[in-house]
Amino acid sequence: MKNNWNIKESKKYINYYKKKKINSDLALRIYTTHLLGNNSNLVLHGGGNTSVKTQSKNIQGKKIDIIYIKGSGWDMSNLNENGMPGLELKPLRDLLSIKKLSDSDMVNYLRKNLLNNKSPNPSVETLLHAFLPHKFIDHTHSTAILSIVNQKNSLKICKKVFGKKIGIVKYIMPGFNLAINCHKIYNQNKNIEALILLNHGIFTFGNSAKESYSRMIKYVNRAENYININKKNKIDKLIKKNNKKIDIINLSLKVRNTIFNLTNEKWVVNFYSSKKLIKLTKSKLFLHSIIKGPVTPDHVIRIKPNPMIYNNNISSIETQIKKYSQKYSQYFKKFNKLIKGSIQTDPLPRVIILPNIGIFLLGKNFKETQIIKDIFISACESIDGTNKIGVYKSIPKDEIFKMEYWPLERAKIAKNKMPDLNGKIVVITGGCGTIGLAIADEFINDGAEVILLDNNKKNISSIPDKIKSKIMHIYCDVTNKLTIQKVFKRIINTFGGIDIVISNAGKAFQGDIANVSINKIKKSFDINFFSHQIVAQESVKIFKKQNIGGIVLFNISKQSINPGKEFGPYGLPKSSTLFLMKQYVLEYSKYNIRFNGINADRIQSGILNKKLINKRAKSRGLSKKEYLRSNLLKVQVNAKDVAKAFIFQAKLSKTTGNIITVDGGNIEASLR
Ligand code: ZN
Repeated sequence: MKNNWNIKESKKYINYYKKKKINSDLALRIYTTHLLGNNSNLVLHGGGNTSVKTQSKNIQGKKIDIIYIKGSGWDMSNLNENGMPGLELKPLRDLLSIKKLSDSDMVNYLRKNLLNNKSPNPSVETLLHAFLPHKFIDHTHSTAILSIVNQKNSLKICKKVFGKKIGIVKYIMPGFNLAINCHKIYNQNKNIEALILLNHGIFTFGNSAKESYSRMIKYVNRAENYININKKNKIDKLIKKNNKKIDIINLSLKVRNTIFNLTNEKWVVNFYSSKKLIKLTKSKLFLHSIIKGPVTPDHVIRIKPNPMIYNNNISSIETQIKKYSQKYSQYFKKFNKLIKGSIQTDPLPRVIILPNIGIFLLGKNFKETQIIKDIFISACESIDGTNKIGVYKSIPKDEIFKMEYWPLERAKIAKNKMPDLNGKIVVITGGCGTIGLAIADEFINDGAEVILLDNNKKNISSIPDKIKSKIMHIYCDVTNKLTIQKVFKRIINTFGGIDIVISNAGKAFQGDIANVSINKIKKSFDINFFSHQIVAQESVKIFKKQNIGGIVLFNISKQSINPGKEFGPYGLPKSSTLFLMKQYVLEYSKYNIRFNGINADRIQSGILNKKLINKRAKSRGLSKKEYLRSNLLKVQVNAKDVAKAFIFQAKLSKTTGNIITVDGGNIEASLR
């Protein structure tokens, strides 16, 4: 591992924070916290913590000792001063004289000593940092260190690998007792540069930010070198190739269906694979090790005590998930008395291993699946390292439970109420145009996973950044059935299924009905009718398979109800699409699939562009503004209004065959 300390960079931090009236101690603390946080082999997603002890003046102008420490759950890769709450040091040190301290009293006491009462909760390891005298302290869950500290004979190996300038701390969960223990061990040898925590990670110290950081890199390098030099060629049996072929798409749909049946919630199921993962998951030794328990305690809240390993020769994936869930509930029942008032979380696995193939990641939304992926992959690497040099040993089950249900740990992932459409997968065709993007925005704000399909390269390349970072976009011609099939497969591979399809793509065609060419009408039918049919057909196929309902919403347009002059080539397929919606309602409601449509008019967009608006306005003898407001309410109707109507239809769980009019009032286009 490379030492990335850079004097120029460190000065940049000092200058930047000076402008914010922040001293160089905290500026350098933030600098090396970022260095550690940006290395995924050291910490991941809110793991690890750092601190610095410095001085400040209190309100009476008296100098006091303070400690800045990472806020609980804050991300070391990008935090700023807000993620480093300051506390008065002396009252924390005073706790060295007491024998016992409950978690809730500890949290309360820490909050009471914050310099700013609006600060986030300081790390659960604050007292450990406070009790040790060193100016800078760094703590990580380095992948290589975890390979060394999760061995059957870790104690012996640690002494060999790390030398004499370290203290070794036997496993005990984070909190007051661990802090007291670490302080005791430091007192036995005040020359130590680091503490190695068995089954947990490493703390390094120093008088400067550079010294503490450099010691972290030094000890991680010792661990990495030891593994490389001492790896043994063990006899490892490989699992037999599956004799039944596994269909990832069907399996994803089944997993998502099972989750729904067990929790009544729709989750994201993400499939992931890599060469390394395939290699690991066919090793019997690895599979035997990975179910033993976590490599560091704070992984448990993210990936549960162990993954599920799917065996397609035994029974269906539904049965195996149910079995996993039953076992998890038994584990909760057995240990729940260890933590007063603990309430069981969902019993589902977060990772399902498909040996020799890859993994399914199960999360309440896509972002969560990716956090689970990163943490699980890093745990796999630590275990792989462990197996290269010895025998993997995790903490006992009761300790795993205590960590999984520790209220201080749960607080890191506790969220406010999830938005309504959290975990719902929404596909929008014509997704990158004005109306498509407005719909996307509404659904993103309501927590949905949004996939935009479009064949307009210019529109795809100009998706606004605030939407782009939150969606998946795919180039796609919706008039091509094979393309739609392929794209839907890709979506299921990434998200596990599809819940809502908004068939929005369309194109305006004009012409005097008696003179327009048949070819033009055919072209219009391709995009304004057949694309809706292809998208609906393929959606229904998936909805039937996943068997947890589904919604198709059509952009039908006012033309389907009330023809406009010389707009026949556009109105004809649109009125057929209205009929199509009704036909689907009649034949597919029995599968709990809903179909609705929006009858919108005069929305300025890619279809009704400025040129066309001018033309249409002229044909009615109106100005552009008059044309856009020529409705009974005399208001201009926008893409956002259409988007709101779609989201409304998506949420009306007992409404199907419905048309919502979004046109500011037009009695000719209103439904009878
Ligand atoms: Zn830790």
